[in-house]
Formats: sequence, structure tokens, C-alpha cells
Amino acid sequence: MTELLLRSEGGLDLEPLRRVLDGDVVGPEDAGWDEARRAWNLTVDQWPAAVALPEHADDIAAIVAHARGQGLRVAPQGTGHGAAPLGNLAGTILVKTERMRGVTIDPVARTARAEAGVIWIEVVEAAAEHGLAALAGSSPDVGVVGYTLGGGLSWLSRKHGIGANQVTAIEVVTASGDLVRTDWANEPDLFWALRGGGGAFGVVTAIEFNLFPLEQVYAGILWFPVDRAAEILKAWRAWTDEQPDEMTSVGRILQFPPIPEIPEPVRGRSFVVVQAIYAGEAAEGERLLEPLRALGPVMDTVAPTPMRELSRLHMDPEGPAPGAGDGGMLDEIDDELIDRFVENVVGTPILSAELRHLGGAVARRSSQHGAIDAWEAPFIAYAIGIAPTPQAKDVVEDAIARLRLMLSPWEAEHTYLNFAESRRSATTLFSDASYYRLRRIKAIVDPADLIRSNHPIAPAF
Ligand SMILES: Cc1cc2nc3c(=O)[nH]c(=O)nc-3n(C[C@H](O)[C@H](O)[C@H](O)COP(=O)(O)OP(=O)(O)OC[C@H]3O[C@@H](n4cnc5c(N)ncnc54)[C@H](O)[C@@H]3O)c2cc1C
Repeated sequence: MTELLLRSEGGLDLEPLRRVLDGDVVGPEDAGWDEARRAWNLTVDQWPAAVALPEHADDIAAIVAHARGQGLRVAPQGTGHGAAPLGNLAGTILVKTERMRGVTIDPVARTARAEAGVIWIEVVEAAAEHGLAALAGSSPDVGVVGYTLGGGLSWLSRKHGIGANQVTAIEVVTASGDLVRTDWANEPDLFWALRGGGGAFGVVTAIEFNLFPLEQVYAGILWFPVDRAAEILKAWRAWTDEQPDEMTSVGRILQFPPIPEIPEPVRGRSFVVVQAIYAGEAAEGERLLEPLRALGPVMDTVAPTPMRELSRLHMDPEGPAPGAGDGGMLDEIDDELIDRFVENVVGTPILSAELRHLGGAVARRSSQHGAIDAWEAPFIAYAIGIAPTPQAKDVVEDAIARLRLMLSPWEAEHTYLNFAESRRSATTLFSDASYYRLRRIKAIVDPADLIRSNHPIAPAF
């Protein structure tokens, strides 16, 4: 390799770092740069000073020490699902943990340990071998660590809470370069901050969390023509009032483009759907769903569903995809909101606009919880469109901005970090008490703000 290839655009000498890592370092002039800097979300054009691909925790410690010595910053990234709010990466080493893929299940303790680069389907499948279920989200290839540090809203969260509040230990390289194992007994403040406060407190190398004995759920989708959108969403909204914590549901408008990637039965067509997931006996799930089935869906896929299949219920794209999305929590959904939601979604370039039911365990407080104690808001909205070109991105972002503006009278004071794909003030992501505690912890563990997250926390001295 020539001297030229060892130096990145800003004259950064990457060779000393390469010498101490088992993993790789890629600079802007290296072959493979475009692949190395690519995020899962293909609309995000990441230009860090270098990309590091660690093989293990010691590599991460070396990367952090090197960055500190060179006056650089470090941005950990598992998959890049949450890359949109990250912003300008100049002077930053992007630490992509995708090679750290170890998963261990302890079937007796009912816990899982996932290394930093593990994606959800890997845990779901490993846990299913033992009849256990994790608090995975809707997408098979979202990263376990990024998802959990930001909160972790699962199809089982109304029953078991958010993922962050089922974490039992987190191993993390702090800004000082030390590898620390945090739990309730060791570094409890840092452990608290990592559980819901996002990725600003260190580079996580592995995470451990509880699993639940559950082999299958009664789940699927009731599909209705999109011209019934307001009627169906109003019926769904009323129905949610009566549901136990075991039932999670989503009211959603789907507008599929006529492209080959979309399966034939729905390609080029639009629907209003209700997704329902009942974590209990199928017979009881069937009874609870009767009022929605009575509305006469044109397709009905709700049936006993093994946990690994549940990971694909929401039809999230696997592998890198160009998407522009954003979301926020809602204090209430009333008929007026639904009428205006439908007007602002149907016929626009928005592919999916969903309203997820919260409540249940996510609304309950506990002194054992981390930085996100409880969400009072009963619903969360999220919309996304396909944006393969910058022009398409502008159009989709415009439609989503209009939808957010329309929803603003109903918007809750605080929202969910992981569903916020635009940069928000951290004061809107946490309660006041959590926000100030997070800032004080950041000042202790990373006073120079070496670790960059997609939703930063500024140190408070
Ligand atoms: C298609 C899709 C479906 C989704 N479904 C759900 C869902 O059902 N429920 C839900 O709660 N969320 C969901 N999300 C949101 C998702 O949880 C966030 O985008 C989350 O940030 C993704 O984590 P990641 O590691 O995959 O992404 P990344 O972009 O890699 O990481 C996001 C942030 O997490 C932090 N981070 C990642 N790895 C580390 C590390 N090792 N150490 C320290 N910090 C780290 C960093 O701050 C980073 O900027 C979804 C997103 C998409 C795009």
C-alpha cells in the first residue's frame, strides 16, 4: 500500500491505528471507502475522517485511545438505521461494529448477551431455539445495541416494557479508553444513562438483557381498502381502549409503489391496515379481535405466529434502503386527528404512516428503570417514504413535514429518541429530571464530548 493510501483526505495518518487493531481502518482514499462509510439508510451521505471496523472490545478501546490522542471524536454505529440525525462527521472516526456478531443465550437465567454489531433477527432466532422471546422491534436488521440504548419499543412492550428497562448489564468503552462492565452494582449511574439515554456515553461492546418464555403469538394484519381509512382507524382507536397489555396494535396506511421489490398481491395498491399482536392464547386473541374482523377485511393474516416470523410482520425492508422518515408521540388520537391524518397521507408519496398503541407496561414507572422511566403518551406516530434520489427525498420530507405540522396540536411534550429521525432538542426526548441527570453523567464520563451520538447530550458542569 502506498503512502498516499495510508493518509486520509485531511492528512490523517491512519497507519498507527491500523498497526494496533485486529480490525480494519478505511480512509477516504482507500478502495472500499464508499462501502465502508455507507449507512443502512442510503439517503445519508456519511463523510467521517475515517471508518474503523473493530473485531472486538480491545479494538474499540484502541480506537477511542487513538481518537483522543489525535483530537478526533468517535461515532459508534451498528447498522446506520438511525444515521439520519447524526450530522456532519468531520473530525470523527465512525466506528462500525458490524463485525462483532457474537450472541449467547442463557436458557436457565433467560438472558441474552449480544455483541455490539448484532442485529435483532440473530437474537430472535437464537432465543427461539430455547422457546424464549426478546423485546425485539419491528425490523429484523435493526441493531440490538442502538435500539436498546435509545429505548427499544417492541411488539411485547405493552406487556414487558421497553427493551432498555430489561437490560441486566452493559459493557462499554468509555471516553477514557477503559472497558467497563456496568450494572446495578458497578457504575450504576452510567448503567442508568445507557439504558435509554442513547449512545452519547461510551462505545458499547456488548449488552445483556432478559428474555421471556414465549414461543408464539397470535398476530397478523387485517387489510382494508384505503378509501375506508378514516372509518377503520376510528374503529381501531376506540377498540384500543378495551385491550389488555398482552395486545399490541398498529393502525397504518400503506401505499405501495408499483415496483418489483413489492410482492405481487399488494404491488401498486394502497390499504389501511390494523396489525395486531396478542402475546397469549390464540383463542383469547381471536375473541379480542372479533370487533375488528366484523368490519370485513379484504385480507386477514392474523394467526398463530412463531417469534421468528413476528420479526417480519411489519414488512420492514432488510438490507440497506433509501428512506426518509420521522415520528413523534401523541397525547391523544381523536376523530379530528384521524380525519386530518388520512387527508395528509392518502395520495402523498408517504409509503407508510402508522399509529402505534403504547400504554401498558411502557407507561408504568419503576425505580429500577433507566433514563426512560415511563411514557405517558398513549400513541406514537411514524411515517416513512422511499427516497432513491435527492429529489424524491425532498418530496417525501416535504410530505412528512406537512404531516408532522398537522399532528402538532396533538403532539406530546416528549417524544421517543429512536423514532426521531431529525435532530431534536434533547429536552424534548427526556423528562426534565432525566435530561439534567444525563447531562451531569456525560460531564463525568465524557467531559470533552469525545463520543458522538445521533441524539447528543451536552455535558453539564
Ligand atoms: C425500518 C426501521 C424499523 C424500526 N423499528 C423500530 C421499532 O420497532 N422499535 C424501535 O424502538 N425502534 C425502531 N426503529 C428505530 C431504531 O431503533 C433506531 O433507528 C436505532 O437507532 C437503530 O439502532 P442501530 O444500531 O440499528 O442504528 P445505528 O444508526 O447504527 O445507531 C443509532 C445510534 O445508536 C448509538 N449506537 C449504536 N451502536 C452503538 C454502540 N455500540 N455504542 C454506543 N452507541 C451506539 C449511536 O448513538 C448511533 O448513532 C426502526 C428504524 C427503522 C429504520
